[in-house]
Amino acid sequence: MKLLVTFSRKRGREPVIAQVVRDTGVLINVERAQIDSHEGEALIEVPDDACELVRERIEALGATAHRLDRTVVHNREECVDCGACISICPQDVFSFDTDWRLVVDEERCVLCGKCELACPHRALSLQA
Ligand code: SF4
Ligand code: SF4
Repeated sequence: MKLLVTFSRKRGREPVIAQVVRDTGVLINVERAQIDSHEGEALIEVPDDACELVRERIEALGATAHRLDRTVVHNREECVDCGACISICPQDVFSFDTDWRLVVDEERCVLCGKCELACPHRALSLQA
C-alpha cells in the first residue's frame, strides 16, 4: 500500500520516516521525496497489514499521511496506444501486450507526473 506523506518545512528537517520505522518496526520503502520552501512530500510503500499502524504513527509525529488506493489512472477510451508514455515513465509502468495495446502496472507508479504531461490524448491522470 502506498501512502503520501506531507510535512511542514520544519518537519522536513526531522527524520519522520526513520522515527516511524524505529517506533513500529515496519520496513518502509521511500519511492519518492521532495522538499520545497514550504513543505515536504514523500511517497512511501508499506505492507498492507501495517498501513494503519504506520499512518497513525506518522500523524502522531505531526505529519499527514494519505492512503493512495490508486495512482496513475488510464482512460482506455482516449488512449490510441501510441506508446509515448512507455518511453517517458521511469518506473516501467507501461508496456504493450502482444496485440500492441497498452498495459498499465499501476503498482509501480511513483506519481512523478511525467506521463500525464506527455500523453497527447490526455488519457492519463494521477490520483493523489
Ligand atoms: S501516451 Fe497516452 S495515448 Fe499514448 S499509449 Fe500512453 S496513454 Fe495511450
Ligand atoms: S506518474 Fe511517473 S511513475 Fe507514474 S506512471 Fe506516470 S511516468 Fe510512470
